Amino acid sequence: MDYNDHEKVIPIVIVGARGRMGKVLVQEVVASDDLSLVGAVDRSGSPGIGQDAGTFAGGLRIDVEITDDFAPRRGTVVVDFSLPEATSSNLDRCLVHGAGLVLGTTGLDSKTREHLLAASKEIPIVHAANYSVGVTVLTHLATLAARALGPSWDNEILELHHRHKRDAPSGTALRLADQLAKTSDRTSDSIVTQRSGPAARRHDGEIGVASLRGGDSIGEHCIFYLGDGERIELVHRAHERAIFARGALRAARWVLDRDPGLYDMSHVLGLV
Ligand code: NAD
Repeated sequence: MDYNDHEKVIPIVIVGARGRMGKVLVQEVVASDDLSLVGAVDRSGSPGIGQDAGTFAGGLRIDVEITDDFAPRRGTVVVDFSLPEATSSNLDRCLVHGAGLVLGTTGLDSKTREHLLAASKEIPIVHAANYSVGVTVLTHLATLAARALGPSWDNEILELHHRHKRDAPSGTALRLADQLAKTSDRTSDSIVTQRSGPAARRHDGEIGVASLRGGDSIGEHCIFYLGDGERIELVHRAHERAIFARGALRAARWVLDRDPGLYDMSHVLGLV
């Protein structure tokens, strides 16, 4: 669909278009009724440059070539899932014409985070380390439950990921633990990621985070609230990587008419 055909069609530029997430984003935009891919960008010299973004993503030809440069106009949303080294120059490109930005790239250094904050005074930006709608709601529920149950209930987190995952615990598990700590005025010192040996007894106020690895699991997180005589488990299971792309595109629809600012998925879902 051409975005001039329909006043509600939102023009989208995907940065990192030949990456794992970029390809899923292209597929999801092409499959949608209200989004139109107007640009697909990747690193200069990378093998996909000059190829059709649709066929590169494993679908039909869409006549959008993967390029190594872009100049998004106002009213366009840039969805950037590339690498941290690219974030600052992508931000500058969005600033020139006031395009909105949905940034999925993780691992930003402090200088880039400062740049992000400064740019958000002029354009609306959503930045989330996890665009899953389910994980965003889980995080919200985690806080609600911890507040209501109070400090006499112990909190522990268990996460499971595929056999190839390099880091442990997962970033999402650590963010959940951090959120639980903040809810009850604890610091990140209360988070314990290793327990073994004779001195491994649980101390009051600790938030234990344990990791399992194996198979092809995209990711599971379970928060245990352990009381005397009862317990609650809040669980999220990811079945496919497309959940991040769908969440990011939900953010793209939401960010379009926003005032400048730095937002995350809890704003997109109306949770704050
Ligand atoms: P990937 O390595 O498969 O893809 C990254 C792409 O970015 C590559 O095609 C690479 O060529 C391209 N790239 C590198 N430099 C660039 C530049 N200067 N300009 C344009 N493109 C450039 O990685 P991936 O698995 O698709 O993940 C991409 C990013 O998204 C990572 O930071 C990852 O941690 C993050 N991610 C975030 C979420 C989330 O929910 N926030 C989910 C999954 C991945």
